[in-house]
Amino acid sequence: MNSDPSSRSLDTEEIKLDPKYEKILKEHHLRVTKPRKLLIQCLIKHESPQSARALMKELDSQNDIDQVTIYRILDTFLEIGLIHQVFPSGGYLLCDHIKCHHGIHVMLRCINCQTHREVEIPKDVFAPFEWYLKQSHQFEPHHHLFQIDGHCENCQS
Ligand SMILES: [Zn+2]
Ligand SMILES: [Zn+2]
Repeated sequence: MNSDPSSRSLDTEEIKLDPKYEKILKEHHLRVTKPRKLLIQCLIKHESPQSARALMKELDSQNDIDQVTIYRILDTFLEIGLIHQVFPSGGYLLCDHIKCHHGIHVMLRCINCQTHREVEIPKDVFAPFEWYLKQSHQFEPHHHLFQIDGHCENCQS
């Protein structure tokens, strides 16, 4: 049962993290550092979007990671699509479809109960919209996350 391969080293290795996240960092040529691990771990715990300040507070209480580092990591994570920002709060959330690179991620936010759900839309479904933007507005969209505000199933009646 005891098959923990990280038992040989301490510190960074001590922080347990789902290997899928380490894999993503490595895929983007990012080192698996202690602050990056801690931040991911912190985000895993929360289902609701967390502000940078809240994350900082949580991390700062046990570790000394400075603000600049945290902001930099958040920027990097946003860039590689590991996390998303939900508006208008601007809070950060871990991507819910991290393994899937095939579709467009859409954040559905209920304006009534404030719940949110990330869904993946097949590229083919999104293609006509993309085509329209290019044709009519000479705009080529690159951002892989969209947010649509509306009413969730519970709030529709
Ligand atoms: Zn996503
Ligand atoms: Zn709702």
